[in-house]
Amino acid sequence: MVETCRSTYGAFPPFLLFLHYQPMERTLVIIKPGAVQRELVGAIIGRFERKGLHLAGLKMIQLDDKILAEHYAHLIDKPFFPTICASMKASPVIVCCWEGVDAVQVVRNMTGVTNSRNAQPGTIRGDYGMSMQENIIHTSDSVENAAVELARFFKPEEMFDYAKAAHGFIYSKDEN
Ligand code: ADP
Repeated sequence: MVETCRSTYGAFPPFLLFLHYQPMERTLVIIKPGAVQRELVGAIIGRFERKGLHLAGLKMIQLDDKILAEHYAHLIDKPFFPTICASMKASPVIVCCWEGVDAVQVVRNMTGVTNSRNAQPGTIRGDYGMSMQENIIHTSDSVENAAVELARFFKPEEMFDYAKAAHGFIYSKDEN
């Protein structure tokens, strides 16, 4: 997939070109209104940064019914759909694009299961949530959905290719 399977190789300055090709994925994280209200934005972004994920895009937006009907189309017939929409519109959200090797699964693992009460300690939902619905963040659940969701929330020019010197310390030269 062009958007999700890329290499940062081309973005590196010449003195770093000894680094090997590493296929990259990109994934979407939405920091939900509950986390914005509870002032958890910095803590959540910090977790992804400390993990070694690469921040490729970030902005604050106000969601509306149109985009939520697309984003939660798989839940549109559920009785709780109206309350999810109300909750997701309760204040602005932060949308971010994180990049890395296996980024979709890595971020999903860091998120924890849907019901925050059952999410493992150490996961974001497990550490910050007590609710099924108010579960702190949304994260893409597959590489295919990540590409669709990133295109839904970001214009191409709002996602950035840029090099970080630490890249060669986060991954080995022959990462697999
Ligand atoms: P996930 O966000 O873990 O991928 P889903 O895609 O199944 O989970 O659901 C989307 C969101 O809808 C969840 O994150 C949660 O906020 C809400 N949700 C899911 N199931 C329920 C439920 N049974 N009751 C209330 N809210 C729910």
